[in-house]
Parts: sequence; structure tokens; C-alpha cells
Amino acid sequence: MEPFTNDRLQLPRNMIENSMFEEEPDVVDLAKEPCLHPLEPDEVEYEPRGSRLLVRGLGEHEMDEDEEDYESSAKLLGMSFMNRSSGLRNSATGYRQSPDGACSVPSARTMVVCAFVVVVAVSVIMVIYLLPRCTFTKEGCHKKNQSIELIQPLAANGKLFPWTQIRLPTNIVPLRYELNLHPNLTSMTFRASVTISVQALQDTWNIILHSAVQNISRVTFMSAVSSQEKQVEIMQHPRHEQIAIFAPEALLAGHNYTLKMEYSSNISSSYRGFYGFSYTDESNEKKYFAATQFEPLAARSAFPCFDEPAFKATFIIRIIRDEQYTALSNMPKKSSVPLEDGLVKDEFFESVKMSTYLVAFIVGEMKNLSQDVNGTLVSIYTVPEKVGQAHHALETAVKLLEFYQNYFEIQYPLKKLDLVAIPDSKAGAMENWGLVTFREETLLCDDNTSSVADRKLMTKIIAHELAHQWFGNLVTMRWWNDIWLNEGFATFMEYFSLEKIFKELSTYEDFLDAQFKIMKKDSLSSSRPLSTSAQTSGQIGEMFNALSYIKGASLLLMLKTFLSEDVFQHAIVLYLHNHSYGSIQSDDLWDSFNQVTNQTLDVKKMMETWTLQKGFPLVTVQRKGKELFVQQERFFLNMKPGSQPSDASYLWHIPLSYVTDRGNYSEYPSVSLLDKKAGVINLTEEVGWVKVNINMNGYYIVHYADDDWEALIKQLQRNPHVLSDKDRANLINNIFELAGLGKVPLQRAFDLINYLGNETHTAPITEALFHTGLIYNLLEKLGHMDLASRLMARVFKLLQNQIKQQTWTDEGTPSMRELRSVLLRFACTYKQENCCTAAMKLFDDWMASNGTQSLPTDVMTTVFKVGAKTEKGWSFLLKKYNSIDSEAEKNKILEALATSEDVQKLYWLMKTSLDGDIIETPKLYFIIRTVGRHFPGHLLAWDFVKENWNKLVKKLHVQSYIMQSIVAESTYLFSTKAHLSEVQAFFENQPEANELRYVQEVLEVIQLNIHWMEKNLKSLTWWL
Ligand SMILES: [Zn+2]
Repeated sequence: MEPFTNDRLQLPRNMIENSMFEEEPDVVDLAKEPCLHPLEPDEVEYEPRGSRLLVRGLGEHEMDEDEEDYESSAKLLGMSFMNRSSGLRNSATGYRQSPDGACSVPSARTMVVCAFVVVVAVSVIMVIYLLPRCTFTKEGCHKKNQSIELIQPLAANGKLFPWTQIRLPTNIVPLRYELNLHPNLTSMTFRASVTISVQALQDTWNIILHSAVQNISRVTFMSAVSSQEKQVEIMQHPRHEQIAIFAPEALLAGHNYTLKMEYSSNISSSYRGFYGFSYTDESNEKKYFAATQFEPLAARSAFPCFDEPAFKATFIIRIIRDEQYTALSNMPKKSSVPLEDGLVKDEFFESVKMSTYLVAFIVGEMKNLSQDVNGTLVSIYTVPEKVGQAHHALETAVKLLEFYQNYFEIQYPLKKLDLVAIPDSKAGAMENWGLVTFREETLLCDDNTSSVADRKLMTKIIAHELAHQWFGNLVTMRWWNDIWLNEGFATFMEYFSLEKIFKELSTYEDFLDAQFKIMKKDSLSSSRPLSTSAQTSGQIGEMFNALSYIKGASLLLMLKTFLSEDVFQHAIVLYLHNHSYGSIQSDDLWDSFNQVTNQTLDVKKMMETWTLQKGFPLVTVQRKGKELFVQQERFFLNMKPGSQPSDASYLWHIPLSYVTDRGNYSEYPSVSLLDKKAGVINLTEEVGWVKVNINMNGYYIVHYADDDWEALIKQLQRNPHVLSDKDRANLINNIFELAGLGKVPLQRAFDLINYLGNETHTAPITEALFHTGLIYNLLEKLGHMDLASRLMARVFKLLQNQIKQQTWTDEGTPSMRELRSVLLRFACTYKQENCCTAAMKLFDDWMASNGTQSLPTDVMTTVFKVGAKTEKGWSFLLKKYNSIDSEAEKNKILEALATSEDVQKLYWLMKTSLDGDIIETPKLYFIIRTVGRHFPGHLLAWDFVKENWNKLVKKLHVQSYIMQSIVAESTYLFSTKAHLSEVQAFFENQPEANELRYVQEVLEVIQLNIHWMEKNLKSLTWWL
């Protein structure tokens, strides 16, 4: 999945700490039923607070959102829950029950007898009532069943639900689903039935599966032997979105059974599950559309199912629709049968074996462009009026499909591959097998308004989603803790494939930028290991953040560089072949690598230092004669200068590569592995300078001794092109990050970028502008306007020649065009006169032509932003926004509208987008990002988020990617203690959010801004 794309590289990274699998004993309080605990004093431990008795060892329990359920059911059993802090438990040891306790005890003998009888009785009742029935069968239970907790959650009807865990039992597996749906797009409801063929792996009496559908009216059960449908009872447990079906007979291991459920539900309006919306077409007519977005946990809201990725099955889908609509699903259409009242029933072929989150169906008015690729029909579907914008996507998808089939040495297994542009959707794109969905701007391309950046984004996202057809769809992670195997691989393949077949797009520049940004977030203490336990829906939702994508891809790039491209390809081909249609975890990937390396290198051991530890290393390099002394520690932004990091035990196996003034890049292919805290590299000769981490193929930051930094700075000034543009960008990134850490003076970072006047490439300039822009923004928001202007004057002076050379056209290579876009945007944003005059002239001409005159696409946003500064220009742009059908142009207009200096306009934009009628709600993130960055809107954005929090959460879901981004973008420029306290206080009152990692992350970012200012403000004032 591509969660959000307007600026997917700047999304926050956040995760829940791995704390779910503590092997701590459970603690149950029996004090509320005094006569039920007549234990000998020696058998109990007394907890001082609240005078509660503790009985240990009743099984593993995880503190999570289920506690409420557990608690209520525990009360039923005459129990209540305790504070579970292990510290408390430890402190409780040694306490003993007071002899004059709550029970009035006639004599010691009676007490012992009473104790024995009651304990035995309670134990027997609990065992009989609560253990799964398979416990008493010859075959016994699957291991997971045996660990079933003794304390049960309550079902919706008030009875005890027979399953306690968030994960489903593994005693029943689904084989095939037959899903019949009849949606009514105007009433936003649907009627449906699902028939599930299942197989019992162990004997059992009930079937537990997921369901979040609204009205289940009838459930029947049939065994393969009797072939007789029997109506059965179900029990619902809404909190876990589970239902239990009680079979009329024991389900026996190895036998197949069929469940059939009839139900109805609402079509969702919140962009997940089976969701619907209306839009207006080119003739202003209201139209309806429905689509699905199931990943990660929403298939269950469209049909009862075993909604975990490892429960793969096949699917037959039938949809009843009005005749003007097209219905699409994962598989090609098998038949279309006209029914009464203008309805048509479409049936799709049975699918390949796949996970529920990949199931998809769409109903709406659509047209398509198609092309056959060796027996697979590739189609781009859009609403009818936009099919003319689909050519570029079709061409791209065809090339990429051919590339992947060759590279993976596995044919794409379906007869069709549809890519559909959805008029209103929250996810950037979703890789449903055979039916990939996109936001319109990530699939459609309008020749007159799509910039080179728009085309790159579209190409990358198609590449990402098609890579998922293998990584994710064919081979799937067993559980969401390993989502990086899906997303890291798809992201890696996205850049890798584009380097191979669309080299001219220079997408490596975007990847570098993404790596720099993710490392910034990965150096916070609120970061998480790449592979992290995730159980609740909040934790699973948070796994879909930039860390899984970009860090995952960066580690694969590092491994590919270390092992060589051939070895890497062999290993992943082997991995895909070995696990096709199966479910895997990280170890399966490393095993394939170890098989190919023939155990000469333990890839698993090496890579686990990267996937199981959070953060990344700082490699410090010191050159002495021909020797290079290297050492590693964790790069940790909260580290105080000169002090050791708190977690000194961190150790990575780092592939170190380097280049020096004595050789060119091709002479340094080999790398050495630093798997200890420190090591020495022999350079064989004395050199003038050394640059470690060639082309930033490794996921680490490098710090040099003073002399070595000086030598590099001098080399850049003398001739920067001796180093690659990736290395120049890497040096700029590393020195500014180290300055943030206090390892180098900020002034030295500015010394390094003094060479920028001779810079010709996009990546180093973008990186320098990112860091200087951030400093400018922090200064400006604190009111240090003079200092901020001096800073920008300095940067402008460095880049003035390059800015002067730019023309207001779309000429040149993609990289040159992006550089032009970056430089002119910079010049106009900081109000450079020539830039603003030229942009205003273009805007006036464009407005005079009523928006018909074409503008150069790469500078269109800059032109609109300058034009939006006037009242007339702003209103004209808004009118235009409502009448055009190019999403690329709409986004450019929206960005310009959101840079207005009129707070009323800004408020109106945010409000209108939240309402979702004129501006789609998913674009709100984009608006808030722009509003929050500029001065008048800076505080307004956060105020808006606070005021509308409940509405935002209802519409966008608190853990979603888009909410993570909205919170981060509206707070990341705060740098005062007052703001820190305010944000903190706000989230303390939002219990559903306060637990989430991204909230911890934004608080940490504000703290770091405060520290940064305290550390650097004085020296900036002094030398700027
Ligand atoms: Zn993805």
C-alpha cells in the first residue's frame, strides 16, 4: 500500500514499543470475594495498595485495550484486576495477609477444609467451562489454543465469548469464499451473503472468525458428510471484531465444513472497508462510486472472514449492479447476467490463493484503455471523462510488468491487471491482486499540467504497486510485525526498477531525499525497530509509516551493494519461488540469502542487527597515515554533546565503503564489514581525503576528524565533481545532522556548503535548501526575522548564478527540470524580485486568457503561489479549482491557495476540506502542511487540528497515516516550552491518541527544536 503520496517522504515515523510479549505472570485479585480465598497465609502474597491479595501464575496476560473486557468478565468470576506493574509485584513479595483480614474464620481446621473444597470446585468449574473442548480430545489442541487465557471477554449478548485473543485460533482454516454482494450506491447500503468452505485442523466445537458487518440475519452450517444445512447460533464480540459460530456437531480434524452467512451493512463513508462517495462529473451531474480499501484490517467490515494475512484462500465474487455501472474485482469477469429492474449480475473467476486484505471490488461509471502483455490484459480504468489521461500509465505499467516478470523469473499469474483511478480515496494506492487502486493524481497524467515531478511520482507508485504483486501478494508476511517485508521490498523495487528502465527520471535523487528524512526520524528515541510486535488495530495501523517503507528499502539497498547485484537477485528469486502463495517471516528471507551465499556470510546475523534494533550507527572516522580508525555508536539526536549515548550496547554489522582522492569510484567496489565497536582499515597509501559510505549505499552517518572534514571541504571548493552528486548530498546531510548533535560547529556545516555556487546537480542543492530552510523556518517562527533574512540572503548569494540561469520553461532533462522547479520556488518563496516579477507576469497572462493559456508545468506551482497573493488571483484560482479535471493542476492550485496570508481564507480552506464537499478530505493533510509552514497560518493549523480533533478522528481514523501526517505537520516548527506543554496537555486529554507513537514523536521533535535553538541561536547571531 502507498498510504499517502502528496509528500510521502516527510511522513512521521512512529511505532509502539515491543512490550507485548512479556513473560510475566498474571495477577488476579480475589479480595472482593472474601470467602473464596481461604488460603493459608503462606500461599498468598499481599499487595499493600488497596489491600488486595495476589495469586500468581494464572497465565500470561498482555496489558492492552482488551483489559476492559477481561475486567468485566473477571468480575463475573468474582475477580477483579490489579495494577500489573512488575515493580509493584516485586514490592509485594514478603507482605503477608494480616491475621485479622476480611474473612471471619471460625477455626483453622474449618478454614483449611473450606479452602480445599472451594479451590477444587472453582478450579474444576473454570477448567470445564473455559478450556477449549479440544483439550479433552485425543488429538488435543494446537499450541495456541492451550495458551487460551482463563479469563474470558464478554460477547455482545452478555455471555462469555469463547475466545480471548486478538489473533484468531488456528484450528480452523478457510479454503474458499463465495461472496455475493448487492450494493445500493445511493442509499449507501448493501445486502450480501458469504459462503466459506473451511477445514478443521484440530477437533473443535466452534469457529472463531472476524466480522464487523452490521446485521447478520442467518447463519447455516453444513458438514461435507451430511450435506444438510443447519441453522446455527452465533455470538459476537465487537471489541475484537470477532464472531463465534457454534457448530451443531463436533468439527473433526481433517474434515471440511461450509458456513453460510446472510447479512446487510452500510457502505462506509470513511475511506476504508467497502466505502462509497459521490462526485460531480464534467456536466456537473452527481455520480456515485464505491470501492474497497481493506488493508490492513477492513475486509471484515465487508464480509465475515478470517482476516489475517496468513489465512490465504480463494475467492469467488458476484456483484449485482445497475446496468450503467461497471463492476471490477481481482479476477477477470466470468459472466454477466441481466436480472429484473435494469440490474445485472457479474460473476468473476475464482481467484488464486490469497490473503483477505488483497480482495477488492469496485462499482462505478468507468472507461478503460487496455493492452495485452503476453496473455495478461493490462487496463487503466478512470471515470469516463478522464480516460484521455491514462495513456502514460498504461505505457508505464506495461513496461514494468515485463521488467518484473523477467527479473523475478516468475510470470504474473493472472490473466488481467487493472489499475483504477478512484475519484476520492485516502490511500495513495493499494496493491489488491489484479485490481490495483490509485488516487487520481497518482495514476493519471495530463500533458498540459503534469510536471516532471508528477510524472515521476506516478511512475514510482505504479512501480511500487506492481512490485507488490510479487512481494506481498504472491509471498506475504505472516503477520503485520513484518510489514516491512512487503513495503520495504516494494519501495526498494520501485527505485531499482526505475533505475533500470526509466533511468532518465533520476529517481535516485528522490530516494536519497527519502533516506535523509527517515534517518532524521529514526534517530529519535521514539523510533522503533523495523520488525516490531503489533497486535491491536492502532499498533498495526502505525506500522504503515515511512520507516517500514524507506528504512526497509535502504537496508535492502545496503545488502544488495554488499553482496553484489547478482547474488542479491539470485536470493530474492529463490525466496519468491520457495514461498509462492505462502506466508513468511523475516527469517525466511535471510535463509534464502544464506542459501545463496553458501553460509560464507551469515546474512541473518548481519541483518538482524539492522531490523531488530531501532536507530542506526554513527561511524566516526579518523585517518592516521595509511590507516583509517573507525568506530561505531548509536546516532541518537537526544545525545548531549560529549556524553556517551545511554544505549551503548547497540552494535551493528556495518558494510563500510570508501573513496579517496587517489582513485575513482570504480576502483573501490569492495567493502569491509565492521561488526565490532571499532576497527582499522588499511588504505595501502597515504591519501589527501577520504569519503566513507560511497553514494550513501549504507544506512549510517559518518563523522570525520577535524582535519578530514577540512580536507573534504577544500576538495568541494576546489572541484566538487570529483565526488559523485550522491556523495556531495550525503556530506551535506551528514554535516548538518552532526551540527544538530553538537558534534561539529554549525559554522562548519555552512563552510561546507560554500561550494554550492559550483553545484550543478539537484540532490545536493535540495539537501542544502532543506537544512537551511528548516533553520530559517524555526528562526522566523520565533520572531528572529532579521536573522532569518540574513540566513536566506547568504544562501541566495550562494545560488544566485544557478537561479539566474533558469528559464520559465519545461526544457531539459527531468533532473534539470526538477532543479529549475526547486530553484525558482526557492527564489520566489523568499521574494527575490526578479523571480516574483516574472512569475506575476506569467500569472497575469494566464488569468487574462481565462486559464486557457498553457503554463510551464514545472514552475506552475510557483506561478500560482505568486498569483494567489492578490485577492483577485486567489479568487480566480479557487474558481478554476472547481472547474478543471486535472488532479495535477488542482493540487498545484491548492498549494497556492494555502499560501495565502489571509487567515480567514486559510481557515475556510481547512474547514471546507474537512467537510469534503468542494475539496476532498484526503487533501486536508496537504493543506495543513502548507498552511503550517508559512507565517500567518503557522499557529492556525494547530488550532484547527485541536478544535476539530473529534471530527478528524472520526473521518480519518486516529492511527492512520494521514492523521500521523496532520499532527506532525501542524507542530514540527514549534520550538518553545509553552508550545511543548500545550501539545502535551492536549494529547493527555485524548486517550486514544496519547498512546500512539507518533504523538511521542511530535513531542520529541518540539523538544529537539528547543534544544537546537538554545544551542545555536547565539552563534548564529554572532557569525551570520
Ligand atoms: Zn506498498
